[in-house]
Amino acid sequence: MADKSSETTGTTETTARRISSFVLVVIFVTLALSLVALYFSMEIYPRNEAAAGYFLLIGFIGLALSSYMLLQMRKRVLKWRLKLPPIMTIIECQKCGFKNVREFKRGDYVFKQMGACEKCNEPVMITGIYREIKEQKKKEEKF
Ligand SMILES: [Zn+2]
Repeated sequence: MADKSSETTGTTETTARRISSFVLVVIFVTLALSLVALYFSMEIYPRNEAAAGYFLLIGFIGLALSSYMLLQMRKRVLKWRLKLPPIMTIIECQKCGFKNVREFKRGDYVFKQMGACEKCNEPVMITGIYREIKEQKKKEEKF
């Protein structure tokens, strides 16, 4: 079960990375196209001022769009990193029921023996590992 929760983390991070690289490709294609449009507008300016103006406009819109997307993506990635809730481990005493919840550490697994109980000195055990999910699902589904 401990393996299962770390697997879930891996999948979420991989998906996020995959989306980010896709968005990055789109941004760079937009950027390249707008640079081409800008170059083209300068190239044809002496011959056709009106067409050059159009290409200039397209180029600037492309530049603005790609930089806006880049900014949005950076914000989103930062948000992802900040808002990913921590994985928690429940340590419970089987005798007196004393419960201790702390952040997940590498090597934690369910039914692992964890030293002595603070109250009754009996051996305690990990009884659960979970990710803390808060009420922010609806916001995240928008993406
Ligand atoms: Zn106890």
